[in-house]
Amino acid sequence: MQFFVESASIDITYKCNLRCRHCFDFAGENSRDEIDDTALDNIFESISKYEMNSICLCGGEPLLRLNSVINGLQILKNNNSSGKVAMVSNGLLWNQSIAESLKEAGLDLVQFSLDGINDASYDFIRQSAGKLHKVFDAIKYAKNSGLTVVISSIPHRKNFSEFQALINLCDELGVSELRVQPLMNLGRGEKNYEYLSLMPEENESIATLLASNANSTKTRLIWGDPVDHFYMYRELKYIPQICINAFGEIVLSPYLPITIWNLRKYSLKEYFDLNIPVHALKHETIKNLISEIHDISDFTSHHKDMPLLFLESNIDLSEELKEMALYA
Ligand code: SF4
Repeated sequence: MQFFVESASIDITYKCNLRCRHCFDFAGENSRDEIDDTALDNIFESISKYEMNSICLCGGEPLLRLNSVINGLQILKNNNSSGKVAMVSNGLLWNQSIAESLKEAGLDLVQFSLDGINDASYDFIRQSAGKLHKVFDAIKYAKNSGLTVVISSIPHRKNFSEFQALINLCDELGVSELRVQPLMNLGRGEKNYEYLSLMPEENESIATLLASNANSTKTRLIWGDPVDHFYMYRELKYIPQICINAFGEIVLSPYLPITIWNLRKYSLKEYFDLNIPVHALKHETIKNLISEIHDISDFTSHHKDMPLLFLESNIDLSEELKEMALYA
């Protein structure tokens, strides 16, 4: 391996106990076979052998596979994995005992999604009824257990005016970081984009609000750009992160249906030994795709007649990339 891998994300499942209107990965609608517990354990075992800054357990709602999450955390911990371990969650399934088990098993940080801070805005986007209080409870359980808490939030038509209050709330609750990222035109977010999305200048006003509050709160405020990783790929000329989907595939990006390595067929060791993170960026399909992506409006679930992201099988370039690497 001739480069440093910054981070890994592992999608534990695309099942979810919510059906949010803006969900970019169609969580809860996917009927494809996800990797089983043994394959997931093997992925954690392999990941733990590489030095990296952070490992994130993503979803769907990862706690719907709580045992797999706990096993995975223990595998990382027992193998002295170097990366800080984070998990995303909607917060609805938490209680004190689960929070303590996750901490004990090795979780460092949890990122709760909070896309509305009153019942009207929260339940609207989540298509739920009166569940917001559970997220506030989850934040308390996580903090009581010594976990670092981060909040992620997506601005939409119904929570647009809440961001100053959200910043204040995060400060009050001792949230370490508030990460705001624009709504993506993907998944259910694409179906509902027209009436949920903000104008670019409205998104910019939220980014400005975060910047202007930066020195008056203990919470770190971040405006995230979902396209950043493509700029990073272009600059570094290799893929410095490993994104593993719930089907056991390493994907080019969570937002494109392109598999660059299939862990159901090949090992993570081969991925690195063959320098796939470098070769992938030389593949014509990937080169062309990356050259076309400059901002979030360049993504849709139906990207250029490609398979429907998350609901249909990805274009799998593993074999071609393996050939390329062997004959390079
Ligand atoms: S946005 Fe998150 S909580 Fe909502 S359906 Fe998707 S995965 Fe579940």
